[in-house]
Amino acid sequence: MALLPGLLWGGTGTTAELARRILNAGLDPEECYRVRELNFAKEDIRIYLTDGYLIFGRPVDGVRMSAVFSADVEGGDAELMIFPPQRSERLALASYTSSPNLNEHFESAIFTFADESYAKLVQQIREHDPLRRSPEMGLVLAQSWNLAVRNFASSFQIRLVYDFLSPNRPQNGFFYGALAGRRLGNFDVLYDPRSDEQITVGQVASHQDRTFFDIWTRFEARSFRNHTREIPPPEAALSDFRMDATLEPDLGLKVITRARLAPGSEGKRPLEFYISRQMRVTEARINGEPVEVFQPESLRANLIRGGSNDAFLVVPSQELQPARSYEIEFRQQGAVVSQAGNGVYYVGARGSWYPSRGMQFARHDLTFRYPKDLGLVATGEIVDDRTEGDWRVTRRRTSSRIRVAGFNLGNYQRESVTRGGYTVEVYANRQVERALEPKVSAVILLPQLSPLTPLSQRRPVDVIRVPVEPLRPNPAARLERLASEISAALEFMSAHFGPPPLKTLTVSPIPGTFGQGFPGLLYLSTITYLNPEERPASVRSESQQTFFSEILSAHETAHQWWGNVVASAGYQDDWIMEALANYSALLFLEKRKGARALESVLTEYKNHLLAKTEEGRRTDSAGPVIWGARLENSRVPGAWRTIIYEKGSWIMHMLRWRTGDERFLAMLGEMRRRYQYRAITTEQFRLLAAQFLPTRSPDPQLEAFFDQWVYGTGIPTLKFNHSVRGKAPSLRISGTVTQSDADEDFSVYVPIEVQFGKGRSVTHWVRTVAGPAPFSLTVRQAPSKILLDPANSVLAVRK
Ligand SMILES: [Zn+2]
Repeated sequence: MALLPGLLWGGTGTTAELARRILNAGLDPEECYRVRELNFAKEDIRIYLTDGYLIFGRPVDGVRMSAVFSADVEGGDAELMIFPPQRSERLALASYTSSPNLNEHFESAIFTFADESYAKLVQQIREHDPLRRSPEMGLVLAQSWNLAVRNFASSFQIRLVYDFLSPNRPQNGFFYGALAGRRLGNFDVLYDPRSDEQITVGQVASHQDRTFFDIWTRFEARSFRNHTREIPPPEAALSDFRMDATLEPDLGLKVITRARLAPGSEGKRPLEFYISRQMRVTEARINGEPVEVFQPESLRANLIRGGSNDAFLVVPSQELQPARSYEIEFRQQGAVVSQAGNGVYYVGARGSWYPSRGMQFARHDLTFRYPKDLGLVATGEIVDDRTEGDWRVTRRRTSSRIRVAGFNLGNYQRESVTRGGYTVEVYANRQVERALEPKVSAVILLPQLSPLTPLSQRRPVDVIRVPVEPLRPNPAARLERLASEISAALEFMSAHFGPPPLKTLTVSPIPGTFGQGFPGLLYLSTITYLNPEERPASVRSESQQTFFSEILSAHETAHQWWGNVVASAGYQDDWIMEALANYSALLFLEKRKGARALESVLTEYKNHLLAKTEEGRRTDSAGPVIWGARLENSRVPGAWRTIIYEKGSWIMHMLRWRTGDERFLAMLGEMRRRYQYRAITTEQFRLLAAQFLPTRSPDPQLEAFFDQWVYGTGIPTLKFNHSVRGKAPSLRISGTVTQSDADEDFSVYVPIEVQFGKGRSVTHWVRTVAGPAPFSLTVRQAPSKILLDPANSVLAVRK
């Protein structure tokens, strides 16, 4: 049943009306069936409706987009089976469900879909059991399930409308199921042929008042794995952004965003964009002609997708021609700027205050109008800056293509350093935000009483409280220092990784304990700007001080390259950007403070990875780095940070030891050259790194290395024994490296260093196994020392 949505839908109403009709369709009692042994599959998802009732939704322009199954009959049952194809996904599934394969009986299910599910199911029903229609039961089911069906349709309304209006809907439409599992409780199954990984299974879960979508498994569906199907091409690409933004005195932001739009080859009608939840798109035009904007809230879809931005659709009135280029214009407004008190402001939706569509490297031209007593910084070089009455108007342009443009504002003072052709401009607030103000304290003074005063006359009411005006921390205390350090970091990194995307790097403060690196614009926690002794008590530990004073600014500076020149291809590859940004910061720390400083940070990272969770598991075991945002789940909420940043840094450190210092830096330089303004995958990164291994290295394609550290989890404990026999010039060193506390198949290469009184030391690599791994080598002269990994180049616990 191939429908032509354009013909069916053409002119019958607006997209919002269509959405309303989809939401209000309700279940159709006339399409209720008693089903037995009804089986169907969406690629790797197999569903067996063994015995129960199946009711479909009412059609909207001939398309039915929902169904409910209920096993609420004598002996009623249904079953779902999914076998993830990769070992890592089987492990992920097992960690949530205690089984590497999903085989779950369920009591009921709500299905929401835009594909050919209805046609396929009803055909099967009519062929096998044509008389099992049951309108009486249909009335009962419709009454009890209509509201729930509507809720799920509402959650997916953007997608339902998108699919409805797109060509090839039966093939490319999505399929979603909310199942009430008998053992595992409620869980979700999603098949989306437009996604990189088409199958997702997971569960909404809460932990300490936060809601997560725990992804049990997510993988490429069979026909995509086998290359018999391909992901449909994106429907459009945007370039040449021009923003005209006005920041009102009440901090409301109004923006007109214009861009070049190149339609994709599918010639489909709706275009999907993302924008911050705080921004509302009020109007859109294509080549000057008004087009419809559809921007409802879609909570569950957002939860499954992750991220805090909302999707919206632009529905052109006529089909866009793939070979042509169009001018698209959006008007959007909202409150993305917040106040932190004392005249300190910050931008909440730093990267999503204007519409975007995933990754796009584009030139940006930004004009901001804002109250003239405010300071405003943004991405790009200033091309015009003037005052018009109470307003200041600043126009900036980026000299190269960038991924995202940001801005920040405040009541600033500034320090600027120009070195090696690059300018670093650091802005500091003139006051600290309220959260960083010390509390008004009271000093309690005991009354001065003569020791001769009889005790009976000493009364507690004599205690005097003297309020003491607090010393406010100075938010510009480290302004000059930051400017010179960031400029030194930029110089150090450009020397190894090539020029940054833009010649001016603007640095601005932001409340909180984090930073963010946009092209040409860094946001740094205000704490970074304070003198260490003026920082809040919660960040006074030595390692926190090192983080705010030494690592954060260099980490965000390194994102100029890692994330903004080279991008990650997907969430599985995000770890590369964070690990490289952080390890670049650690290289800069090592250069300034020496190897000890680097070692102490890495030791601390190791301790975090070994720390036990509430359930007594090591933090490292929460999942491999390639899980990316999936690591932020209800079981170990802090694991994402520790694994992506800290284990990620260890992975880079270990790679550096495998390649050697010079080759490691050369590899990073080559990565920039090869992947400039492109995305890199984890496998491409492995192959690149392997090219920089010294000749005759063990594990020459780094397959074992990536299997253990990148695709797997585990930190082994290593014990080292050795003995020396024979006489020079033929001495035999033999011994064992014994591995414990890791999986049976865990195996890494560790170096044994043999040092001599005179001459160069010899490094011998041993591949560990569960239990003792013997080794032996022959040397010419008597060794002075034989050490297992003296440089701490392997993430392991020593015994
Ligand atoms: Zn980062």
